[in-house]
Amino acid sequence: MNVESAAGAAYIVAALLFIMSLAGLSKHETAKAGIGYGIVGMAIALVATVVLVVDEAETLAIVLLFVAVAIGAVIGLWRARIVEMTGMPELIALLHSFVGLAAVLVGWNGYLEHKSFPSQALEDIHNAEIFIGVFIGAVTFTGSIVANLKLSAKINSAPLVLPGKNFLNLGALVLFVGLTVWFVIDPQLWLLIAVTVVALALGWHLVASIGGGDMPVVVSMLNSYSGWAAAAAGFLLNNDLLIVTGALVGSSGAYLSYIMCKAMNRSFISVIAGGFGIEASGGDDTDYGDHREITADDTAELLRNASTVVITPGYGMAVAQAQYPVADLTRKLRERGVDVRFGIHPVAGRLPGHMNVLLAEAKVPYDIVLEMDEVNDDLADTTVVLVIGANDTVNPAAAEDPTSPIAGMPVLRVWEAENVVVFKRSMAAGYAGVQNPLFFRDNTQMLFGDAKERVEDILRSL
Ligand code: NDP
Repeated sequence: MNVESAAGAAYIVAALLFIMSLAGLSKHETAKAGIGYGIVGMAIALVATVVLVVDEAETLAIVLLFVAVAIGAVIGLWRARIVEMTGMPELIALLHSFVGLAAVLVGWNGYLEHKSFPSQALEDIHNAEIFIGVFIGAVTFTGSIVANLKLSAKINSAPLVLPGKNFLNLGALVLFVGLTVWFVIDPQLWLLIAVTVVALALGWHLVASIGGGDMPVVVSMLNSYSGWAAAAAGFLLNNDLLIVTGALVGSSGAYLSYIMCKAMNRSFISVIAGGFGIEASGGDDTDYGDHREITADDTAELLRNASTVVITPGYGMAVAQAQYPVADLTRKLRERGVDVRFGIHPVAGRLPGHMNVLLAEAKVPYDIVLEMDEVNDDLADTTVVLVIGANDTVNPAAAEDPTSPIAGMPVLRVWEAENVVVFKRSMAAGYAGVQNPLFFRDNTQMLFGDAKERVEDILRSL
């Protein structure tokens, strides 16, 4: 068997392992095995590719390959070891930008290589692949960079609303189609430069136009784009594994975006079209009145007398690493006969399942950790709700104010409970940058400070 067919066989095995990995990741119990299949698949793919290059290429190319792999592996290991759980989405966005950049470079290389083709039709297909690959790659590249900057709070998460923004996006798409036809007929360098510039600008604009509350969908959408970019590169490089893997990532990312849009009551089309239909909302200068404060001791007193308690955690619990004292508090209250449950919003925190992972880490029993829909109707009969570092996910404006940027997003209706205690450090807005009228309700009291320290104070008091 020659090296090429051995590599082809290895690629098929790797593709199967990737499919098994995705299947494994769809359930808690099999997720770890899923990760294992993915790692083995990637190792096989990498070794097969290196063997293929070593077999065909010249010494310089081989040296370059090993140097690139070594640099990439060192940076990857270093970043993966130091990344905080709360920093995962921005790291993922950055990794998507690399896939986009790689697709652009592969496309440009495909153009500059000047291959000869047995027929004009094949050459036309090759040119179309170059153009489409560069376009998807460049959109993914800048879009992911903007997502990274927004998620790491280096730029404002509020949506950018340029005049006629929908026409700008539509214009860029029409231009892309026109330029593709032109390029296939007459492949000139300036056309490739033009499409690269248009796509870079479009990617930037698409993601900049989407507000903070929709960022979870944007991250999974960019995941999908990066898959299609990889598949386009696979066509150019004639690499079946890249095509299969790219299509898997592209379609599963698109489906995840669709599920998340449904959970968030957002239009899928609106989000992929860069916030199509979202209008600028004027700044919120409503006077909500005064807020009330509560001490840790008084919160402990409230909890001592409560019969039912629901805890709704959010991003602040992750930042404060408050899940351990929260788990202790839960244990203590349950020992006293208080009915304690958790209400988890689908986009609480900064990545899907973020809160579930933290609570599982702190050994909170699964059966008291409920989804938003399972707990929402019970909140009206709850004595105390503890909102620990959550903000957008408990904002009544989403349900009550049609002009709010997060209007229509389903939220935990914590304000229906008898008492609400909000743990946060200040009156600052949540990720979507929207003021939260919950803080000014008569039944709400604010417990200011770091969530972990305040929960520990309550534990001492109990
Ligand atoms: P938010 O991001 O809306 O609010 C978190 C709150 O935690 C802040 O208001 C902050 O207030 C408080 N906080 C921060 N640090 C601490 C601390 N050490 N102690 C106590 N409080 C703290 O959180 P939610 O979880 O309610 O909402 C998630 C948001 O993130 C949504 O808008 C969602 O769309 C978005 N998002 C979600 C993703 C996902 O996949 N889950 C991905 C990307 C974005 P203060 O500064 O006053 O302390």
